[in-house]
Amino acid sequence: FSDEEFSNILNDFPALKRNINGKRLVYLDNAASTLKCKSVIEKMTDFYLYHYSNIHRAVHTLASEATVAYEQAREKVANFLNASSEEIIFTSGTTMGINFLVNSLAKSGILKTEDTVLISQVEHHANLVPWVRLSKFYGFKVAYITADEKGVITNESILKTKESIPNPKVVSITGQSNVTGQEMPIELIRETFKNATLIVDGAQLVPHKKVDVKKLDVDFLVFSGHKILGPTGIGVLYGKKALLEQLEPFLYGGEMIDKVTFEDVTFNVLPYRFEAGTQHITGAVGLGYTIDYLESIGFEKVEKHVEELSNYLLEKMMELDFVEVYGPIDSSHKSLVSFNVKGVHPHDVSHILDENFGVATRSGHHCAQPLMGVLAKGSKIDFPNSTVRASVYLYNTKEDIDVLIEGLKYIRRWFE
Ligand code: PMP
Repeated sequence: FSDEEFSNILNDFPALKRNINGKRLVYLDNAASTLKCKSVIEKMTDFYLYHYSNIHRAVHTLASEATVAYEQAREKVANFLNASSEEIIFTSGTTMGINFLVNSLAKSGILKTEDTVLISQVEHHANLVPWVRLSKFYGFKVAYITADEKGVITNESILKTKESIPNPKVVSITGQSNVTGQEMPIELIRETFKNATLIVDGAQLVPHKKVDVKKLDVDFLVFSGHKILGPTGIGVLYGKKALLEQLEPFLYGGEMIDKVTFEDVTFNVLPYRFEAGTQHITGAVGLGYTIDYLESIGFEKVEKHVEELSNYLLEKMMELDFVEVYGPIDSSHKSLVSFNVKGVHPHDVSHILDENFGVATRSGHHCAQPLMGVLAKGSKIDFPNSTVRASVYLYNTKEDIDVLIEGLKYIRRWFE
């Protein structure tokens, strides 16, 4: 970004003007949720106040304006992912998208008792709990691509898994880990498990990497609006049309039907058959505005900016000899770093960073409890079963990272 472009971006996020405990806010909790953009919120407010109505149901002017805005948002998402509109289903977020898929694949008989679903040891609970729980009801098996002691999924591990599980029915994998920051080798996974239905959890990947669903040849991709500057409570499920057509809906109710009798129902066409009930209309419209915003500043510039900051963050963290960093130490490590300060609990680290430096980070198990067990085994410290995580996005700067580093050095001195 030029200086002028970047100063405009900073102005788009009023939260950045806040003082936190007397310090400028340094927001490094983007992997949990990003800050919101003023112009998007203003447009959403205008939509709510002047154009809002329920969609698809009435013939009056507001209903038609709201329907057009909602369907335009679907088109924007479709273009963003290089998909077609009927392949885009609005959900409430990544979690719902994966629950939808597990249920629908099993109910439709695509996923059978004798089948194996392959996931990895670094999955967020959203891409683990639904598989593990529903395997108990439907009988399919869940297997894992194992991570090494740093929580890294290596190419060797993927290829080795193929030897013991040559033909998983489904492979469901995160595009990028929310704990180790590793961007997964999706191309290799696609190539290795050619016949599997490939699901990508794009919650962390989509915000900073242009995902072309055709090029990647993924069968399903899910992500959340709130991690890409958009509203909370809206998400996207992309599915290849031919596959969506075979799926039994997850939710039943209004709008998703064609004909209903007392005895049975037939379903609406794609994508409506998967959007039962009144949707988060303004959320979807807001996600569309968010995509407009990202495209207006240039998504490739967002990618480049986050990449530069990611490299700087990892490099600076690696210089600290009192810190243990998790995840790969190479360019596959993107947008976030999870770490521990030796001898200090992550909650204390996060708390002091907020209190003394205005730095927002996250501490905890990051909804990846089994992965904490893996990291504990490889850890050289008394691993507290949780980590601190700093994550960057569009509006962060190298100075933000410098403040984090300064804070960590302060914590080190304090606890010495
Ligand atoms: N998967 C990953 C990799 C995530 O980081 C998250 C959010 N932390 C989720 C899934 C769940 O997203 P949501 O809570 O928006 O459904």
